[in-house]
Amino acid sequence: MQQSVLDQMQQMGHEQVVFCQDPHTGLKAIIAIHNTTLGPSLGGTRLWNYNSHEEAVVDALRLSRGMTYKSAISGLNLGGGKAVLIGDAAKLKSEPYWRRYGKFVNSLNGKYITAEDVNTSAKDMEYIGMETKFVTGLPEFAGGSGDPSPFTAYGVYMGMKAAAKKAWGNDGFGDRTVLVQGAGNVGQYLIGYLVKEGVKVYVCDINEERLKTVKQKFPTVEVVANEGIFDLEFDIYAPCALGATVNTESINKMKCHIIAGAANNQLADENVHGPMLVEKGIIYVPDFLINAGGIINISVELQGYNKERATSIVEKIYGRTLEIFSLAEQENVHTQLAAMRIAEKRIKDIANLRVGI
Ligand code: NAD
Repeated sequence: MQQSVLDQMQQMGHEQVVFCQDPHTGLKAIIAIHNTTLGPSLGGTRLWNYNSHEEAVVDALRLSRGMTYKSAISGLNLGGGKAVLIGDAAKLKSEPYWRRYGKFVNSLNGKYITAEDVNTSAKDMEYIGMETKFVTGLPEFAGGSGDPSPFTAYGVYMGMKAAAKKAWGNDGFGDRTVLVQGAGNVGQYLIGYLVKEGVKVYVCDINEERLKTVKQKFPTVEVVANEGIFDLEFDIYAPCALGATVNTESINKMKCHIIAGAANNQLADENVHGPMLVEKGIIYVPDFLINAGGIINISVELQGYNKERATSIVEKIYGRTLEIFSLAEQENVHTQLAAMRIAEKRIKDIANLRVGI
């Protein structure tokens, strides 16, 4: 039997979930606020054609929880939240649609601050910003920090380098090969960093246009079919499309040494697949640690944007990844769990600070 939303919230520790709908614009939104101990919840708005409302709820709950961990481990004073909008992006996107959504975001009085995610752009944030100040990732001309994807990609590149150091004792990639799954905003910037370093890159995507763009920009990159990627030989798997691609079936086939990519919720079930990766000797860089570049950039926007400052904070993902590898070894746990422990400890410590005075 399907668990109720409240049961799921209780199990995952959510504070609040808000459902919104508007017949005029076709808006159907779920705003999930996981934890606001460290500060207002911040997380992107995802627009996706979910198969069911239940699937959308699960996505909102999982993604918002991930945001709590992401901000906590990155040392940001932000909580975890995320919004999912249900429907076909091509049919729904319009000024009134975004402004109606902006009004709903505004009604939460700053407990949730939004930003871009899959299928939402800086332009969409501008419309949302006409109805609420609780929006980030605005275009640069509007005083924002623009597209967070280059920063997310740079963070992924940093985490990947740290994993290479752990695996091979050197953070140069030499003649190692990388498969990037998803040639979207983050995937393309990541490919740029790798190609610049002379790395052999394979790429797959369900969108032919994007693959064409990649081939034009980076002629040395080799396009591979989506099906059967885990039958191929490559050293590093960079999931940059959607979540849950690291599962029992894929792990059983994997021949890579490292998983380091931008997608959220990469492990289908962290309790099963975290240990399974350890057993197989595959180094996994926790998703919420390695893909924090975008939110780090946005957190700098909240303080008054400075690109150099944002870049230097994103670079810290390298050292933090190495710390997590050491902790995982010391405590004999998988890397995702080690990272979760660090994040949970910070939240607990800061919550305790507020008690008493
Ligand atoms: P995007 O929508 O621009 O790109 C995703 C790409 O994946 C698209 O080209 C899409 O066609 C492709 N794709 C979808 N399903 C696929 C499949 N089954 N096989 C192969 N390719 C597939 O999104 P993005 O902004 O590049 O983000 C990529 C991932 O990273 C997402 O999971 C997102 O949540 C996560 N992420 C992004 C950011 C950011 O700053 N953009 C920050 C943190 C996490």
